[in-house]
Amino acid sequence: MQQFLQKLKTQPVVSGTSTGQAFWHSTEELIDTHSPVDGELMARVHPTTRDDYDKVVQTAEKAFAEWRTIPAPRRGEMVRQIGEQFRRYKKELGTLVSYEMGKSLQEGLGEVQEIIDICDFAVGLSRQLYGLTMQSERPDHRMYEQWHPLGVVGIISAFNFPVAVWSWNAMIAWVCGNVCIWKPSEKTPLTALACQQIILDVLVQNDLPEGVSCLITGGSEAGSWLCTDPRIALVSATGSTRMGKVVARTVAGRLGRYLLELGGNNAIIVSSHADLNVAIPAIVFGAVGTAGQRCTSTRRLIIHESIYEDVKQRLVRAYGQLRIGNPLDEKVHVGPLIDRDAVAAYQSALFKIKEQGGRMLIDGEVLEGPGFGSGCYVRPAIAEMPAQTEIVQHETFAPILYLMKYATLEEAIDLQNGVPQGLSSSIFTLNLREAEQFLSAAGSDCGIANVNIGTSGAEIGGAFGGEKESGGGRESGSDAWRAYMRRQTNTINYGTALPLAQGIKFEL
Ligand code: NAD
Repeated sequence: MQQFLQKLKTQPVVSGTSTGQAFWHSTEELIDTHSPVDGELMARVHPTTRDDYDKVVQTAEKAFAEWRTIPAPRRGEMVRQIGEQFRRYKKELGTLVSYEMGKSLQEGLGEVQEIIDICDFAVGLSRQLYGLTMQSERPDHRMYEQWHPLGVVGIISAFNFPVAVWSWNAMIAWVCGNVCIWKPSEKTPLTALACQQIILDVLVQNDLPEGVSCLITGGSEAGSWLCTDPRIALVSATGSTRMGKVVARTVAGRLGRYLLELGGNNAIIVSSHADLNVAIPAIVFGAVGTAGQRCTSTRRLIIHESIYEDVKQRLVRAYGQLRIGNPLDEKVHVGPLIDRDAVAAYQSALFKIKEQGGRMLIDGEVLEGPGFGSGCYVRPAIAEMPAQTEIVQHETFAPILYLMKYATLEEAIDLQNGVPQGLSSSIFTLNLREAEQFLSAAGSDCGIANVNIGTSGAEIGGAFGGEKESGGGRESGSDAWRAYMRRQTNTINYGTALPLAQGIKFEL
C-alpha cells in the first residue's frame, strides 16, 4: 500500500480508466482526498469530465457487444481469477479502506473478504442462471424462459462501504454478461482506483475487451450522468434516501431500470426472554461499529420494561470500555467519522435530542488532543428518547443510540416498524413464539429480520436490501442476480399446424 500511496502523493490521479489500458485526462479542478484518520492529504484526483464520460460509455458499449457472447461459465472463470487477485491483495486493500474511510482495520479486511466471497458465489452462479420451462397449452409447442444480460450497468456507491458494495454489483453483473461503469463516492475514490488496478492483470491477461470494467470519478453530477443516460440499462445506486429519491425519479423518467440500497433506521427489540450476554455485545457492535456509519447500524433499542434498567446499566458499562482512536490500531473499537460535515451532523443531532425531550445517558462530544487531529473523532452517545420524535425518525449517520421501553411484543413491533425506513431489524429472545411472531407477516417490515444476532453484518449469500425508504432493491446473494438480467419468454412451434392460444380460431 505504501508504494501506491507514495505514487498518489507525487502525481494527480487520472480518472476515467477502463481496463487501465487507456486513461482519459481531464482539465477539471482536482478532488482532494484527506484521510479521516489523521487528516493527511492522501491524493488529488481528477474528476471525470462529461466528454471523458461519453468515451467511457462508448468503450463500455463496445465491450458489451463482445462480453455478452462469452459463455457465462467462462465469464465466471474471469471472476474466479479476480477473486484470487483480491486474496493476494487483501491486507493492502483492507488497510487502504481503513485509512481512506476510517473504519477499523478488521472491518476494512472484512470488506475485502466480502469481495472474495461474492466472487466465489458469482463463479458458482455463472453455471446456474436458470430459467423455467412451462407446459404449453398448444400441441407440438415448447415454452420456456431464458435470461439475457441487460447491457451497461452503472454502479453508484456510498463512502461507508467503499469497495464491498461495488463487488456485490459488479461480480454478479459480470457473470450475467453485463459490463459495468462504477462511480464511487467522491469521499473514497482511492480504494476504487486500487480495485481497478488489482483486477487489471486479469482483464489484460485474458485479453478482455477494454470497457468491461470502467471507473468514473466525481460527485453527484457524475452520478446524474448515469441516471439520465439511456445507454445505461440499469443504475444500481447505494447511498442516502435523499439521493435515492432523485435517482428513482430520474431513471424512471426515461423508463430505465434502477436498484436502490438506501438509508436505514434499524432497531433491536430486547425481550424479557433475551440472553443479555449475547445481546449486549451485539447491540454495542451494531451501534458503534464503523462509528455508526453502516446502513445497518443499530440506531434504536426497544427494551422490555422489566429489564430496561438492567440493560441500561450494562450498556453504560460496556460503552465505558470502548477505545476510540486510530482504526489501524487493532485494539481500537471506534474510528473517526468520514469528515467534518459528518461531525457537524452528529452535533446537530445531539442538539435536537435535547431539544426534543431526550435524556442523555452518555453524552456525545467531539474529541480533541493527540491522535484526534483530524477533528473527526466523536464519542458514541446513548439517549433515552420518546419514539415519535422527529430526530428518531431520521437516520443520523453517527454513533447515537436511542433507548425506548415497551410492555407487549405488539407494541415493540409497532415501534420497530414505526419509521419511514425498513432495512434491518432484530429481536433478542429465547422464546420461540416471540421469535416467530417477529418474523411473521405481522412482524418486522424490514428487508432483513434477525433473531439473536444484531442488525449489522450480513452475509453475502442472502439477498441484501430493505423496504420503504430503504429503497426496495436486493443485491448480492440468493436470486438477486435477476435484477441484472432481462427475462425472455420463448415459445417454439415444432408442429405442422398453427393452433392459437385460448382456442381462438383464425382461418383463411
Ligand atoms: P450519498 O447519498 O451522499 O452519496 C452516495 C453516492 O451517491 C455517492 O457516490 C454520490 O456521489 C452519489 N450521489 C449523490 N447525489 C446524487 C444524485 N443526485 N444523482 C446521482 N448520484 C448521486 O450517501 P453517502 O453519505 O455516501 O453514504 C451514506 C448513506 O448511504 C447512508 O444513508 C447509508 O445508510 C446509505 N447506505 C446504504 C446501503 C444499503 O445497502 N442500503 C449501504 C451503504 C450505505
